Amino acid sequence: MGIITPKITDPDFPLLRHYAQRVVARKPLTHFLDNVPPGIEPHPDPISFGGGMPNRGVFPVDSIVLNLREKPFQANSHTKQDFLDLLLFPGNDLGKTLDDLKPKGTYTNQVSGITLARTVITEESGSVAEPFALKDALQYQGADGFTYLKKFTRELIERLHKPARDDWSTCFVNGAGDGLNKIFSLFVDPGDTVLVEEFTFKPTVWSIEDLGGKTFPVELDIEKDGIDVDKLEYLLDNWAAQAPGRNKPKVLYTISTGQNPTGLTQTAEHRKRIYAICQKHDLIIVEDDPYAYLILPPFDADFRDKKLPFDGLSVQDYIDKFLHTSYLNIDTDGRVVRSETFSKMIAPGVRFGFVAANKHIINQLTQLTMLGSKFSSGLTATVVNSTIQYWGGVDGYLNWGIELSKLYSYRKNIYFEAFHQSECFKKGRISLIDASAGMFITIVLNYPSTNKKKYSELMAELNVLTYKNGIIVVPAGTTLALNNEIAEKKGNIIRTTFVYASNDDAEILEAAHRIDKSINELFEQNGW
Ligand code: PMP
Repeated sequence: MGIITPKITDPDFPLLRHYAQRVVARKPLTHFLDNVPPGIEPHPDPISFGGGMPNRGVFPVDSIVLNLREKPFQANSHTKQDFLDLLLFPGNDLGKTLDDLKPKGTYTNQVSGITLARTVITEESGSVAEPFALKDALQYQGADGFTYLKKFTRELIERLHKPARDDWSTCFVNGAGDGLNKIFSLFVDPGDTVLVEEFTFKPTVWSIEDLGGKTFPVELDIEKDGIDVDKLEYLLDNWAAQAPGRNKPKVLYTISTGQNPTGLTQTAEHRKRIYAICQKHDLIIVEDDPYAYLILPPFDADFRDKKLPFDGLSVQDYIDKFLHTSYLNIDTDGRVVRSETFSKMIAPGVRFGFVAANKHIINQLTQLTMLGSKFSSGLTATVVNSTIQYWGGVDGYLNWGIELSKLYSYRKNIYFEAFHQSECFKKGRISLIDASAGMFITIVLNYPSTNKKKYSELMAELNVLTYKNGIIVVPAGTTLALNNEIAEKKGNIIRTTFVYASNDDAEILEAAHRIDKSINELFEQNGW
């Protein structure tokens, strides 16, 4: 069991003053082993009759064979009809049974098998090859367990971001959603203000509001690289006048790379300025970075004649030329909390991610895990770990990032090409945000200046048209706007993504066609 003794005050780390009252009030959670006074020698061969851990001999799972793909879409691609379609279009399941929806044919995709066994005995040494051992995956763990995977997260952060301070650590969470929910619960008391990008990933807002926190919008500059830094500075320098009666913000929540929904990515220069402003105004920065490894070069109309910049790219060049460095790198105070997830790199269903931050903050997050799930799923951790080890650790993980970047860059190119040839584009009805990372291509609707309707009304009209035309997009202007005022006055954007399409161009082209049709109908029914 991990022994965790969080400190609530530390003269060397004054940022702990930002903790919410419930965190300060929480008694440190300890296991029975923590009660032994320090300095006592343990018995060399103890017998445990203490913990409620069943002997692993009673676990029915003996081994699991993990078949991995060497490339995305190798061997079998996703079929168009699956469960998500059923959720989105409830009418589509008429007459279908679960059996109808199962992939047809026999599964023969024996690509590369790793056996996840209880213990793996290597031929040479006869020793246990721990990384793939199921025995630990099935057993209780400490909340800060999974040593091998933890080493991977440390190496990844160290290699890509080189944190400015040494006193940082990582902990596992059940996906970024869980991580963010826990992070905000450390800092938000009822009435506290959290600054949030004006269009954002709404589930994080739900977490903040559930804690009684109040969000306040930070303006984005779509022409530039995300947060409008001058406006952020002005807002905080003039807070009392800008936000009368509101508590001064404690936290900034930002999706720094491939922002959801706009696809914008902050430059290094922007990050430095934003950090300095947060330092001046004493804000914690929550950096949510699920799209860090999905890089999209600018659309190039001649892409068919050219190689993608990723072809033959070394991992080091991918890091140096394409990946963005975390706020941790410039964080001399320990005010940055970075959230990562395996959802986009491996699969959302693994429900696994990690947080990197100052060790005090990591200790508190670990305490929250002890209050809830106790530790992340060992089976998931083992599948994630085995996949990464099989790929070859950090280098292999990043190579997979290159593969996904290649796939998505190709999709982006054909999607953009389709729009460039579309009626709505040619008539100037839309512009596209050329996202440099992530999964989202945001379409900006260029309404004429004669328009008298609220943008949210137009979004509602478009929603009906896209529904009828059989294309699901997110009217980001309403769904992902932080509040109604933003939706009404600035919400002329829709979020689209090509990541769910099957592996042929036709579906992406058809999607672009249906979006084009819906937008033209919207303009025409408004007499434009
Ligand atoms: N943050 C952002 C910005 C996201 O877009 C998402 C998922 N779409 C999440 C967090 C949640 O990710 P996870 O699947 O790891 O919970």
